[in-house]
Parts: sequence; C-alpha cells; structure tokens
Amino acid sequence: MRYLILGSGPAGIAAAKAVRNLEPDADVVIATEEYAAPYLRPCLPDIVSGEMEPTAIDDPQGKTLAAEKIEIRTGKRARRVDSAKNRVAFSDGTEETYNFLLIAVGGSPIVPLAFLRNPGAFFTLNTLGDALRIRAHAMRSDVAVVYGPGYLGIEAARALRKLGQQVVWISPGLPRFGNPISGEAEVKITEQLRNNGVRTLEATDIADVLDLNGKTYVVRTAGGEEIRCQMIVAATERLPSVGFLEGSGVKAGTGILVDEYLRTNVSNIFAAGDCAEVFDINRRESRINFGWRSAIKQGQLAGENMAGGGKVYIRNTEDYFGLLYGSPLLERAK
Ligand SMILES: Cc1cc2nc3c(=O)[nH]c(=O)nc-3n(C[C@H](O)[C@H](O)[C@H](O)COP(=O)(O)OP(=O)(O)OC[C@H]3O[C@@H](n4cnc5c(N)ncnc54)[C@H](O)[C@@H]3O)c2cc1C
Repeated sequence: MRYLILGSGPAGIAAAKAVRNLEPDADVVIATEEYAAPYLRPCLPDIVSGEMEPTAIDDPQGKTLAAEKIEIRTGKRARRVDSAKNRVAFSDGTEETYNFLLIAVGGSPIVPLAFLRNPGAFFTLNTLGDALRIRAHAMRSDVAVVYGPGYLGIEAARALRKLGQQVVWISPGLPRFGNPISGEAEVKITEQLRNNGVRTLEATDIADVLDLNGKTYVVRTAGGEEIRCQMIVAATERLPSVGFLEGSGVKAGTGILVDEYLRTNVSNIFAAGDCAEVFDINRRESRINFGWRSAIKQGQLAGENMAGGGKVYIRNTEDYFGLLYGSPLLERAK
C-alpha cells in the first residue's frame, strides 16, 4: 500500500506517523513544497524578532521521520491531482502515485489588492523563508507597516518593534475566521503594544500603496492618512490552498470538504488541518478548525482512517489555535 501525503506541517507529519504505526510495511511518502526541515510555524514571529534561531524551531514531530521509514520529498509543489489515475503532478515535472492520498497543504495569507499592485513593497509572514526575509529587510528599514487583524497582526507588530522598527499596525477589523484571543485580552495586549511605541490604526484598511523609489513606499489608508515606510508586512489570515485541486473532482468550498472521517467525496482521498473544511457532527455544519493542535489531531485521525480506522472527528474548541510555544501573549508584548 502506498500513502502519499501533501504537506509537511503538523497535519501531514501526524498522519504519516499514524499510518506507519498501523502499517509497518506500507510506503509512506510526504511531498512538500518546503525545502526547510519541518518547523514550528507559531514561532515565526520569534525568528523575526531575533528571539529564536531557525534551528531552535525544528518541529520535534519531524525529527524521527527517517527512523520511522517515512520518506520526505522537499521542493515538491503539487500542481494537479488526477484522481482517476491516482496520480499527483508536481511543478518540477515529476509525478507520484498513491493508493491513498492525504491533502494537508494548510493555507496561504490573504493578500489585499492594493498590495498586489506593488509586489515589491510587502512581505507575508507564513513560512520560515518569509520570517528570515522580513528580518533581513528590517535591517535596512526604519518604518514598518503591519497589516492584519487579531493575533497575527499583534505578533508581527510585537516582533518588529522588538527589532527596533517604528511600527504602524493597521488592523482592518475582526478576523474573518474568528479571533483566537478574546476581545478583552486583545485590548490589553494592544494597549501594551502602544506603551511600547507601536502606533495602532484600528478598523481601517489600506486603500493604496505608492512606490516612491523602490525603497520607500507611501501607504494610503481608507481614512486618507498617508504613512511613509520601507516595508509592509501582511500578517493576514490564511485561506486554504485549494487551487491545485481544480479539475480533480475533489469538492472544495472555502476549504476541502471532508466528512466526519476526514474523507473527501473521492473515497481514497482525505484532507486534514487548515486546508480542510470538516463536517461537525454536533453542529451539522462544515467548518475549518484552524490551529496547530487541531492540525495534529486531524492529521492523526486522517492517517488512522486511511489505514482503515473508521474513527469520527469530534471538534474540541480547546484545540482551536492553542497558544503553544513561548510565554503568554501579554508577557511577550512587554
Ligand atoms: C505567524 C503564524 C503564527 C501562528 N501562531 C499559532 C499559534 O500560536 N498557535 C496555533 O495553534 N496556531 C498558530 N498558527 C497557525 C498554525 O501554524 C496552523 O494552524 C498550522 O500550521 C496548520 O497546520 P497544517 O499542517 O494544516 O498546515 P501548514 O502548517 O500550513 O502546513 C502545510 C504544508 O503544506 C505545504 N504546501 C502548501 N501547498 C502545497 C502544495 N501545493 N504542494 C505541496 N506542499 C504544499 C506547505 O509548504 C506546508 O509545509 C500560526 C500561523 C502563523 C502563520
């Protein structure tokens, strides 16, 4: 039996390990677009601020893959899934076949239109490469604009301020998929950020970005204010990466639609983690359960079910976006 897993995040790794536990002789292959060894995405802001080095954020789950005979193929971006032929095509021209496929590709940040007109001006904060690029650019920059609602905006603003940047945090409102921190905590942390010198512009948006000379940009807010800066960091929510499934027959809404066993409408294809829109049997509705811990749980269950487990996924609100690493947010903001 050959299990192919797309994505080396917490969902993909947990699934691979679950399969290996149940099927010692199966081929288990993780194919991921990343080149880096699996890492703890929640620690990316600490890479930006310089509080942690890249080697310190290796994902402990990922360290035993070779010993467990789980093959990891890096630099493989899935481009197309041919579900009739059980085959995935990658952007490097190679292909992989499977008996069971797990899609655990997470999401990518929502990028506002105003940024797309000036691609040189902004950085996303989603991968280890992004965090290192932001840090390197901040060495040549004085003023950084952070754009994004809720937790991710706070973390990016905190990290850049710690690095000595003048930071203007533009928060466009409430996160679309829910805020992992309560309104009360957010108010306290925002106050702390202000005390540390972060300027906050709440409930406004970025209307336009002008490139003055390839180094300095003018950000114009919806309220008409103009801010000169050398970098813009988009710390926005992540939308499931489902574009490559077009034509595959796998159904997707906002995320990949799976039933309570994390199985898609194609019987040998499963999905787990931030890319999956899971059917919640208690609420009788589909929803995305973002978060690191939730991704591990879903990945594990999907792995077991691909290997014949037949277990039902029950959503636990505590799994939603647990703050796992480092000290509590308010402490970090000090
Ligand atoms: C800055 C930041 C801070 C965060 N902080 C927290 C936190 O404190 N607590 C918390 O619970 N959550 C946090 N999160 C969210 C958490 O990281 C995610 O919920 C979690 O990583 C989801 O795991 P996943 O396995 O579903 O997807 P991901 O971790 O996104 O992994 C998906 C993998 O698939 C790969 N991939 C994508 N597309 C393809 C493709 N087409 N082909 C092959 N591979 C592909 C990606 O490169 C990646 O390796 C944070 C996220 C960010 C960006």
